[in-house]
Amino acid sequence: MDTQISYRILPVALADLGEGPVWDEQRNRLLWVDIVSGRVNQWYADTEEYEAVDFPCKVGSIALMQTNKLVAATDKGFAFLNLENGEFAYLVDPEEGKKGNRFNDGKCDSQGRFWAGSLNEKGQKQAAALYLLDGKGVVTKKIDKVSCSNGMAWSPNDETFYFIDTSIRQIVAYDFESGAGRISNRRIVIEVDPADGLPDGMTIDAEGMLWIALWGGWKVVRWDPGTGEKLAEIRLPVSQVTSCAFGGADLNDLYITSAKIGLTAEERRAQPAAGSLFVVKNLSVSGMATNRYVMQDGSV
Ligand code: CA
Repeated sequence: MDTQISYRILPVALADLGEGPVWDEQRNRLLWVDIVSGRVNQWYADTEEYEAVDFPCKVGSIALMQTNKLVAATDKGFAFLNLENGEFAYLVDPEEGKKGNRFNDGKCDSQGRFWAGSLNEKGQKQAAALYLLDGKGVVTKKIDKVSCSNGMAWSPNDETFYFIDTSIRQIVAYDFESGAGRISNRRIVIEVDPADGLPDGMTIDAEGMLWIALWGGWKVVRWDPGTGEKLAEIRLPVSQVTSCAFGGADLNDLYITSAKIGLTAEERRAQPAAGSLFVVKNLSVSGMATNRYVMQDGSV
């Protein structure tokens, strides 16, 4: 097992709760959110420029569309965000009236649908869910009684969906029918030892292995969901490692987000890089191309 892979800390603003990294291959940029401050960050890999746009809501996750617009899962439900002018356009909120809930991690599937789940900010168990927003703007609940909806990924052959409910420390798999967007046959594929922290965001590589960020675990671990075996780890100088995504021209650079929220003053002094965006360049495996949200009425 690799015990140490070198990383670079990128020169961007530290996030309170950095999350949801998404690679945009059209503009060679990484987008990620700072959930609690409603900020969408952009790192342009070629020019090494950093930009941020602030929105009037908490932004749990985002997905690319065809233009400079994003679909987002927020504390006001699903919305469109415009990176050109900072505009927030409300779409639909399946959890309207659910006090204390907000949307969290989300990602698009191969058919251009956006999957995003929620959590209860007061930590109420099983009060959240995972939803699918299709290209017509219709929302379907896919998993009920979730506590803290987090990372998701689809296998390279698109037949398996992986999902993390952080609170139960499990990575579960479902059979995935991409045409219908149906999931079935739930089973546990990885159980995370408490000493490794809590599983948060994740991504998958072209070999079908999961890269899982560990909140409170100081690392990202590459896991084999077929055997439950740990294959490699990237140790980081921050405890709250939140998510990761492959990017770069060859999709073999791993971008990793982190948080400083909830750390004591002493912990923040000990972890000056908390909230950073990290990159590990030129890994020996590549990630999967980013899926975009596709509107079915032909608009973008
Ligand atoms: Ca997360």
